[in-house]
Amino acid sequence: MENSFQNPRILVVDDEVDIREGSARILSRMGSETLTASRGEEALAIMETEPVSILLLDLKMPGMDGMEVLHQVRQKYPEVLVIIITGFATVETAIEAMKKGAYDFIPKPFEPEHLRLVVKRAAETLRLTWERESLEKARTRTLMDLGTEKSRIRTIIESLPNGLVVTNSQAQVVLMNPAFFELLGVDSELSLGHPIDRYVSDAKFCALVRAISSGRYQPNDPIPTHELSAPGGNYLLARGRPVMGEENECLGAVITLVNITAMKVLDQMKSEFVAKVSHELRSPLSTIHEQLALVLSDMVDQEDTVKDQNLLSRAKEKTQGLIALIGDLLDLSRIEAGGGLQEPKSVQLDALLTDITDFLRTKAQSKNQQLELDIPQEGLPPVFADPVALESIFGNLITNAINYTPEGGRVRVSGRTDDQAIQVEVADNGFGIEPRHQEKIFDRFFRVKNEKTRYITGTGLGLPIVKNLVENLEGTISVESAPDAGSTFTVRLPREKLETRND
Ligand code: ADP
Repeated sequence: MENSFQNPRILVVDDEVDIREGSARILSRMGSETLTASRGEEALAIMETEPVSILLLDLKMPGMDGMEVLHQVRQKYPEVLVIIITGFATVETAIEAMKKGAYDFIPKPFEPEHLRLVVKRAAETLRLTWERESLEKARTRTLMDLGTEKSRIRTIIESLPNGLVVTNSQAQVVLMNPAFFELLGVDSELSLGHPIDRYVSDAKFCALVRAISSGRYQPNDPIPTHELSAPGGNYLLARGRPVMGEENECLGAVITLVNITAMKVLDQMKSEFVAKVSHELRSPLSTIHEQLALVLSDMVDQEDTVKDQNLLSRAKEKTQGLIALIGDLLDLSRIEAGGGLQEPKSVQLDALLTDITDFLRTKAQSKNQQLELDIPQEGLPPVFADPVALESIFGNLITNAINYTPEGGRVRVSGRTDDQAIQVEVADNGFGIEPRHQEKIFDRFFRVKNEKTRYITGTGLGLPIVKNLVENLEGTISVESAPDAGSTFTVRLPREKLETRND
């Protein structure tokens, strides 16, 4: 192809042998492959089989004349450039030929230089045409590639096993895949462009999508998640991210949905197993505990059995520890299964905190600690919640504060309320928790092991229970702590929710 414009193939058609052969020689020396024909019919026959780029065409020939050849060539080979060779007498005919689509003309007799010039110009035109065409081809190819690329991405999205939905900044759906309809039981006929609420009924899911779409989350924020139940008893985990534009503006949200039913079922089976085993263990253990207590009380006055008494006392303490552990495990599995400890009702939080601190004051005093309660004069608003859960939350936190604070320390419980939440802080000036342990203390069975905590008994289940209970009440719990300076646990319970349930 490249050669076709650098050294185009030229067909010289002239009945005058001198002109025909002379031109062919000049053009061959220029490097062009040249063919010759003495008549119009012969030229057309050659062009049937031989590709030609330029035709040098005499107008006046016996048989088919040049004008007819031009007409046929223009029709059949519009890309071929036709240069008319003409005698002075027929300039007007040459002009007519130009009008009919000839590229140029060269009057006879001509100088070799003139011929070279005209042919070079034609070759240049061919080159430019070729360049333009290949650019155009490249351009259409790129666009086509983009088109197929787009459809490939589309196909991948359509085939994803996870549900995917993309929204714009108004939380209107701009893309969703079949897995999304299937997982949520959305009508697949429903067209794009409606707000997310038209497709999904779970209010919290929609609120999350709206929050991400409107730019309330940054790409580096922890990925917000939400668990929702779906038709057919399925559980889905939704995770979302904002889609950012070039100017770092939020364009919308992309949300994936994963079916976590199998995990949930396993988790439930595990909780049921723990509950069953705990039940089975608790009654024989309690019996052993009581029997030990009985034996011990009988032995009190017998001096020669001091050693046995010590052994039995230790065994009794251990059974007490095991009973506490089993109690915590039972509570935890019940709470994790979504059940409360008791039915929710209106609870006077300030009275509840007063009761708990009064109850635990003896324990604090045994360590010469001050246990203070600080509640605003106007009191705290009542909350609609499971009272046993609230007792468990604050009982655990205050007991921990006393346990992990040395003799003579101070524990302060303070309640506040603001527009959104009721906030209770349990602060101590005790051992504190190293930053690397602060996240782990809410994990089951995690206990900080060091010289100071060594002799403090516990199960490592208190804080996981507290966290689960707080979350069931749609609240949050956080900790601030520094080693040897003390810890402050802050519980925030959402206010409006608890109060609206109150009526
Ligand atoms: P337990 O107290 O039975 O060990 P928790 O789940 O209540 O279990 O607490 C987990 C761990 O967190 C504790 O073992 C302790 O190391 C640490 N911890 C909890 N509360 C405090 C506190 N107020 N001060 C220091 N450490 C604490």
